[in-house]
Amino acid sequence: MIPKELVLEIRDRNDIENVIGGFVDLKRTGTNVKGLCPFHNEKTPSFTVFPATQSFYCFGCGAGGDVITFIMKYQNLDYADAVEYLAARAGINIPASSFGGEEKGPSRKRILEMNVCAARYFREVLFSPEGKVGLDYLMNKRKLSPAIIKRFGLGFAPDSPFSMLDYMRKQGYTDEELRSGYFEAISQKTNKPYSIFRNRVMFPIINTAGSVIAFGGRVMDDSKPKYLNTNDTPAYKKGKNLFALNYAKDLCGERLILCEGYMDVIALHAAGFGFAVAGLGTALTSDQARLIAKYTKKVILTYDSDEAGQRATERAISLLSEVGVDVKVLVVEGAKDPDEFIGKFGSAAFERLLDGSRSKFSYRADAVIKKHDISTPDGKLAASKELCAVVAAASSSVERDLNLDEAARLLSIDKKILAEDVERARRKLLKEEKNKLSLEAYTSARGIGDKINPDIAKNLGAASAESAILGLLLAFPEHRAAVASGKIELSPDDFVTAFGRRVFEAMMKLEGSELGFDITLLGEDFSPDEMGRIQRMIRERMMLTENGSAVLTASIDTLKFERAIQTAKDSGDKLAAFEAKRRMIMENKKRIHK
Ligand SMILES: [Zn+2]
Repeated sequence: MIPKELVLEIRDRNDIENVIGGFVDLKRTGTNVKGLCPFHNEKTPSFTVFPATQSFYCFGCGAGGDVITFIMKYQNLDYADAVEYLAARAGINIPASSFGGEEKGPSRKRILEMNVCAARYFREVLFSPEGKVGLDYLMNKRKLSPAIIKRFGLGFAPDSPFSMLDYMRKQGYTDEELRSGYFEAISQKTNKPYSIFRNRVMFPIINTAGSVIAFGGRVMDDSKPKYLNTNDTPAYKKGKNLFALNYAKDLCGERLILCEGYMDVIALHAAGFGFAVAGLGTALTSDQARLIAKYTKKVILTYDSDEAGQRATERAISLLSEVGVDVKVLVVEGAKDPDEFIGKFGSAAFERLLDGSRSKFSYRADAVIKKHDISTPDGKLAASKELCAVVAAASSSVERDLNLDEAARLLSIDKKILAEDVERARRKLLKEEKNKLSLEAYTSARGIGDKINPDIAKNLGAASAESAILGLLLAFPEHRAAVASGKIELSPDDFVTAFGRRVFEAMMKLEGSELGFDITLLGEDFSPDEMGRIQRMIRERMMLTENGSAVLTASIDTLKFERAIQTAKDSGDKLAAFEAKRRMIMENKKRIHK
């Protein structure tokens, strides 16, 4: 069995859009990506990839899941082989030992202690003759003051495979612990341990509680990889933290700057912009978006303007918008990044730049305009069509009107004329969504001949309540937590279909595990077709606006009643069945009138 942590890392290193794009011709529509489904015959694309949640779903045939499910289905591999396939694609080695038994490693507390010791070591080296090259880089090339170097606890990993390990061993840390903490690896050639961080400037990563949880190391020239970060350890999970949030959290209430690299963040802090943070070597994750939403309502993105940067920006816009954070995009002109801009033009000019950062609509509109030559009628028509679709996608009418103004100005087309096109695009969009929903409703309402969940036909009411409950629990961590803690009462015995019960049990087992719930981990126990059904339950919820705990408790009540009716019927007690039904109707009436 491949360790769950490793499975998650392998998934994270295989961007779903990238992987599927290798097999299916994908086109971008708004925040999502569509193509012709490889699993059924179709002429108009209903196969959709959702980069924000790293999932896919086909509204035509119900195929769906994550990147592992896709490879299982597409390459016809079993789960372990699909994971291995993706590991090879990302250049990740699955250690042979991971197929054997589990070994027990050091605790989180021990790793945190070791991190403090390592941070002290790196800092001491930086200010010693061995670290001169690092200090030169930070002070002369990056123009950092000793005060800011100390504030961020920067250090230096010497260009030696052994120095750091020798030091740490003397402090009482074993080789096993050093490996768990991601300081030591074993050379495949010589079979000897060596130090992972070498000849790099070191950045301790400190969580909001003030613990050193990991490290990032940066090279001082152009060699690769530019940044090397701590992999998952018992004290650190990738994609769940942000660099410098420990400082920024008290200053970012009004706005937060999200940067690409550690150096950008440090330069901004040094220039007086202490509300800057950076991701840690991965594209923004939904966990990070939720973390950000805890501290601020507005984020200014400052990613690079190259293609990778644009994709990162799009992804961040979707993820942050989903958690209700207002997103603006900073456009740096006359310099390659904020650091260089401040060096050239000063802090006051950067402050003005921040104030003038673009709305997410302007940013997207800009990308559309750049793509087409709007000096030609054809180019203008194509650009206007795309822009109208972007305007139409906004759910607030005030937002649509503001965006319409801007689109009209950008294209030099009369606003009234453009408004008609937007209205048409909007009607089309609403109709599409309605069709999708009624198709879903039609197929799930019948439930007859359902291979994945054959029990549906037995009790349609209960099955649809189950699907609502599971969709809510799968998509929203707060609902899972409420059920796991017993705040909301729900047990496996409440479920009517065997499939629903299995999904619930597997989900709650993971929720209670150290790693926590992650939909990818269901892939081990559920077939690709079942994963598609699980994805459908999530998609159905995401298309609805009401997903609060009131909906959850109401669905649980319905399920329990339906179950009571079923039990009464099964035992032949017609009177009890009738009474349960009557009670349910009364309860529903009460709820409607509340
Ligand atoms: Zn399909």
